[in-house]
Amino acid sequence: MFLGKSFRNSMEKFFSPEKLADFDNHKLIVFLEDESKGLRGFITIHRGGNIYPSFGATRFWRYKSDIEALTDCLKLSKIMSYKSALAGLKYGGAKAVIIHQRNSRRNDILRAYVQRVNALGGKFITGADVGINGKDVELLRLESNYIVGTKSDPVKFTSLGILFAIQTCLKQILGGEDIGGKTFAIQGIGKTGSELLRLIYPFAEKIYVSDIDALKLKLVKKRFPKVIILSPQEIYRKKVDIFCPCALSDAITKKNVSFLRCKVIAGSANNQLEDDTVGELLQKMGILYAPDYVINAGGLIAVVDEFENKSFNESKIEKKIKKIKKRLQFIFDKNKKTNRATNIIANNLAEKIFNKFI
Ligand code: NAD
Repeated sequence: MFLGKSFRNSMEKFFSPEKLADFDNHKLIVFLEDESKGLRGFITIHRGGNIYPSFGATRFWRYKSDIEALTDCLKLSKIMSYKSALAGLKYGGAKAVIIHQRNSRRNDILRAYVQRVNALGGKFITGADVGINGKDVELLRLESNYIVGTKSDPVKFTSLGILFAIQTCLKQILGGEDIGGKTFAIQGIGKTGSELLRLIYPFAEKIYVSDIDALKLKLVKKRFPKVIILSPQEIYRKKVDIFCPCALSDAITKKNVSFLRCKVIAGSANNQLEDDTVGELLQKMGILYAPDYVINAGGLIAVVDEFENKSFNESKIEKKIKKIKKRLQFIFDKNKKTNRATNIIANNLAEKIFNKFI
């Protein structure tokens, strides 16, 4: 594929195996570049795309460099394959990231982007991730048949799945599912974080929230006056029952894991752990980790249903999403028996499935 000069220079610098450690035999990497429209980014397909399309939402974010954006895209598309496999779906994993650049016109970027999605001829099906809102999805849908999330509401169903998972976690550590009287810390109160907040607000004892967007914090405080706002650093150190990462990748790192004083980690964010060893550290610390892609599959389940069927039946989707509880319980049971970290157990289960079928 022909690349513009600036992209070529950037790629040459980092196309060495040690710098692309997150490349996992991905099937396709597409470079998105249209200088006149301000488009720059990537689409990566991890598995799938031949018989069945690959699913993965589009992220629009301020990356510091091309390599940071590509790394995120590779990791996020990989996790989508794991998510799809454990949700019992036959689709592969993919992702798109668009690099947010100053002075570019949003709608021009999105229109240029969706042409690239169309050029893949249905191998890649996408919708909204971080930085993409409902209006953006409407705009993209006008110009493409490969956009999902206009009939179903992935945010609502993702957050519902997280709530179900939190109940399962509480049952595991306390013997009962009741969220009444429990304390929460939500990192990131964007689309999924604020929907989760709405679901738990009437019952929770205390809810701490953090975000890097001051306006969002102001709006949330107005809508949910009892929430307590913390800085992005403080949120890690709060003693709570449940810590919910609902922002970006790598929320929990080898550096910050020792700050945590929660009993459970369960949130919507993808790639919450910096790497698998962080899951092992959580296991040693006695913190129950609900693997991200197992519990945040509600949105994917909903958009797949939208893609496969003309009509949309909410209660049918809810039933499918409730199965997240069973899958998570299966992982917790294995964890109890083997003492292996929950993220490792989930990875092994998912790999067995997608290596066979996708
Ligand atoms: P969003 O853009 O609506 O919200 C993300 C929020 O995180 C923003 O408010 C942002 O300001 C905040 N944030 C960024 N860095 C932060 C930091 N260091 N500390 C605190 N807040 C920070 O995105 P979303 O759609 O809610 O997605 C959130 C996460 O959930 C992502 O990891 C996404 O991949 C994952 N996810 C989303 C869906 C979905 O349906 N939208 C489905 C499954 C998984």
